[in-house]
Amino acid sequence: MNKRSVTLTLAALLVLLTALNRATAQETKVTWFGHAAFSITTPKGKILLIDPWLRNPANPEVKAGKDPLAAISKVDYILLTHGHRDHVGDAVEIARKTGAALIANPELGGNLVKLVDFPAKQAGNYIMQAGGEIQIADGEVTVAMTEAVHSSSVFNPKAGPNEPERAYGGSPAGFVIMIKNGPTIYHSGDTAYFKDMEVIGETYSIDVALINISQMGAKMAARAAQSLRAKTVVPMHFATFEGLLPTADGFAAEVKKLRIGFHEMKPGETISFRGSQLVLR
Ligand SMILES: [Zn+2]
Ligand SMILES: [Zn+2]
Repeated sequence: MNKRSVTLTLAALLVLLTALNRATAQETKVTWFGHAAFSITTPKGKILLIDPWLRNPANPEVKAGKDPLAAISKVDYILLTHGHRDHVGDAVEIARKTGAALIANPELGGNLVKLVDFPAKQAGNYIMQAGGEIQIADGEVTVAMTEAVHSSSVFNPKAGPNEPERAYGGSPAGFVIMIKNGPTIYHSGDTAYFKDMEVIGETYSIDVALINISQMGAKMAARAAQSLRAKTVVPMHFATFEGLLPTADGFAAEVKKLRIGFHEMKPGETISFRGSQLVLR
């Protein structure tokens, strides 16, 4: 190879690397930590955590005897669907460590500050209710809170004669998260199936729905997938502890009958989206 062709080859390589880099930069990454805990990394690098019970027994880090919080250094937003312990999880510790802002309903936010010392200055700016939509991450992300049929309370460590064991957690919720140059993601929280999921499906163009299959059961969870008109469904909130569905097999069979895209993530797995498109490697 002469000097000129070496230069040309190098130039071509550089163009290819730049293109690859640009493609990666435009990616949205979604990681499942097991149970209902997911992180979303936007194309611009903002990190959202939903229902961050990272120390759940299904998390491979926990199984390996490591503390999953040790690797967490940057989180911009923590979204909580409701106050139950398997969803609030490690939110307080993560908020303290990262300065992340809370996105939740006012009663849940208020009681987390009052009862479990969630940092108050990180809990006031993004308070919302079902039906509300907010823009975060300098407009890169829009979050809509949707209703959920469930209950919501905050475990009260200060319980005693004058303090209830469970404090009010406001209305439980789900989220639709719309990412600029990325996918629209629905997180069901702990809801049972409700027919107005059809309205969510009509209102938003959901690329991936993270569906709690234990709360709905396989058949109704598949009906939820259909109502939501999701392009791809990912089952969650199963096999973490006893009493939940042990596998997603029943759900997989039901959604396949309905010809809905299905992807079962493994705890610890990350999936990527190029634009709104799921990239299966
Ligand atoms: Zn719950
Ligand atoms: Zn739950």
